[in-house]
Amino acid sequence: TANVTTARADGPLLPKVKNIVAIASGKGGVGKSTTASNLAVALALSGAKVGLIDADISGPSIPTMFNVEAEQPSVRQEDGKNIIMPVEQYGVKLMSIGFLTPAEAAVVWRGPMASSALKQFISDVDWGELDYLLIDLPPGTSDIHLTMVQTVPVTGVVIVTTPQKVALADATKGLTMFRQPQINVPILGVVENMAYFTPEELPENKYYLFGKDGGLKLAERFEVPFLGGIPIVQSIRESGDSGYPAVFKSGVTEGAYRDLAESVAR
Ligand code: ADP
Repeated sequence: TANVTTARADGPLLPKVKNIVAIASGKGGVGKSTTASNLAVALALSGAKVGLIDADISGPSIPTMFNVEAEQPSVRQEDGKNIIMPVEQYGVKLMSIGFLTPAEAAVVWRGPMASSALKQFISDVDWGELDYLLIDLPPGTSDIHLTMVQTVPVTGVVIVTTPQKVALADATKGLTMFRQPQINVPILGVVENMAYFTPEELPENKYYLFGKDGGLKLAERFEVPFLGGIPIVQSIRESGDSGYPAVFKSGVTEGAYRDLAESVAR
């Protein structure tokens, strides 16, 4: 591939990580971090060794979604270098800028600083052996995306969108960016989040609040796999807020995220 691996004296970065999978969206608020956290836990539940980098530097939500907001990664010295130990929760190793800044602090970082934070999360964190290292990217297109592909060989990217027109327009830009020669990351597929709503008292009904099949059509247009639709479920939102990912709950949600993990693992 055209991916560049930054060579160090002691070899490539992350030699013990089998797959590096980015989670991206065009627009913010479409459920990218929710999808990344549930996918991480679903992969861990399937027996894989999983890490998750929260690269959404200005809006880190992974610490909340994993109920580890108060945790701080420990640091040890090795050959005069600081090595950061990731925080571990639900079988997933986690690293987020949220662990390093006070919860209320607004992180207003210039591109190069955000990029160097991501580089540090890759090179200075003791990830150990992993089957999957997921990277929850910031929405849109930024320096971070370029830094990522220049720093590590990315296996592929999962695009999260809602079926809504404005979200799809932004997702289209994202897909186009990942296909550009200087980025050139394989697209693992499109997840359509908030695909429909089914009220509990009307279990047969599906209401397409944000439109129907937008993600599916996007996948078809770009000739990439459609990784499925995830409905709008109150417990997905509640689980995110309470820090106990929805994939632990039985029912439709659990199935959707487990299916997603299976498609990504394939
Ligand atoms: P992003 O990372 O794209 O900014 P988030 O994952 O933070 O988006 O999700 C935005 C909000 O929508 C959160 O409050 C989250 O709990 C909620 N949410 C995401 N996906 C769903 C879903 N399928 N059903 C219900 N709420 C959801």
